[in-house]
Amino acid sequence: MLAKNLSHDFSNTSPWQNCLKKIQDKVGPASYETWFRATELNLSDEGHAKIHVPNQFFADFIEEHFSSLIKEVMAETSISFSTLSFVPIQKDWKIIQPLSEELTEAQNRKIPQAVVESNQQFHPNYTFDKFVVGDSNRMAHAASLAVAEAPGKTSFNPLIIYGGTGLGKTHLLQAIGDFAQSEGTADNVVYLTSEEFTNQYINFVVNKKDSTSFYKKFNNVDLLLIDDIQFFSKKPGTQKEFFRIFNKLLLENKQIVLSSDRPPDKIPDMMEHIINRFLGGLITDIQPPNLETRMAILRKKAEIDGLLLPDEVIQFIAGHITSNVRELEGILIKLIASSSFTGRDITLDVARELCGDVISRKDERVSVSYIQKKVAEAFSITQNQITAHTRKREIALPRSVAMYLCKKWTRQSLRTIGLEFGGRDYSTVIHSYKKINSEIQTNVELKEKIDSIEKLIEPLLKF
Ligand code: ADP
Ligand code: MG
Repeated sequence: MLAKNLSHDFSNTSPWQNCLKKIQDKVGPASYETWFRATELNLSDEGHAKIHVPNQFFADFIEEHFSSLIKEVMAETSISFSTLSFVPIQKDWKIIQPLSEELTEAQNRKIPQAVVESNQQFHPNYTFDKFVVGDSNRMAHAASLAVAEAPGKTSFNPLIIYGGTGLGKTHLLQAIGDFAQSEGTADNVVYLTSEEFTNQYINFVVNKKDSTSFYKKFNNVDLLLIDDIQFFSKKPGTQKEFFRIFNKLLLENKQIVLSSDRPPDKIPDMMEHIINRFLGGLITDIQPPNLETRMAILRKKAEIDGLLLPDEVIQFIAGHITSNVRELEGILIKLIASSSFTGRDITLDVARELCGDVISRKDERVSVSYIQKKVAEAFSITQNQITAHTRKREIALPRSVAMYLCKKWTRQSLRTIGLEFGGRDYSTVIHSYKKINSEIQTNVELKEKIDSIEKLIEPLLKF
């Protein structure tokens, strides 16, 4: 039997692709991301339609909630099939089995009745609708949403999100807590940092009569969120207590979500038991956002703050601030402050001025000469030809492209750029910039070429 594998691929429109588009319209982007993005259709010649999904949990959930919708959409897109089934790719559904002594211990523990801090306050800006999804955080976001919708009922338990600073870990943890609390998917939600956990534990050890006893807090938790667990490093007592609570909650199918600034097995002096237990859930990372996502984040933040930011300003900031989202926000706050003090509109010049100290650090790395060299290579000419005085089109076009990129990516003045192009006038630089800027709106081939050169420049803009 020859099976046709119609995989999910945005670059071509397979029949399943068409179905997915319709499904997305019907279920909305959040559910689509969670339940459908990772699916594939396998249709046999006999008409058996098998939809591949990540694991058994997905299979059950999609079958229960979406199978009639899927059938309907498949009929609309003229996919003929006789049977429809959902097949988990990951067969070994991980159930965390406690060691027997741990089980006994957890059951025997006389933990005082719960006084859980419910109605915990979450940061109003750290919600799912204010989180911009891009390639760098897609998986972490989808898993977070799945966990928030059904705490303790997914195979993502514990869910561990790791990644560098300022990339959105706290935002996601808080969004999970906020969602679960406001949508009522979990009654008792506790969010705390690992340092707060440690302090409370130490307090308990030092003062056992403390009425806000450490264990009371965790006894009835349905959703426990602990941020920055790298700070458990080298704290064996805290780790031991954390492990007990962690196991107890997992035994009761309560949801645990943790974040760390590095992969858990890279946290120095972390108990091996703990690391092993982590492997039973989902460990997923967040990477620094790419240019497109950085621009989307800026747009979103500006929208939230009611700030009108011209596209060229967004492009300028996103092009220059590449390290993390917190820094992008920092610049935005500066812009808001400045425009409210001075009443000036935020133009590219204002942005350049305010970003000056941050951006100047990178200037030496992206030079006019570097851009000339890369453009020359892309057009198979030499760097000398770019600066030479000739009007031949095969030279004039790359020269204009190089000027365009220099204006866009360096902080050199138009005059300096002109000088470095064989002593041309600054008006030539402006003219070239405008010409290329309008040409790439319609000339796809040129746009792609410029995009590929920009990919070479972008890494140099990192700190
Ligand atoms: P981390 O905990 O990973 O150090 P945070 O969650 O504190 O990072 O994020 C830093 C700032 O960046 C926060 O204000 C957060 O709202 C914002 N941020 C990070 N990622 C995103 C994103 N994808 N969309 C919107 N805002 C984001
Ligand atoms: Mg954080």
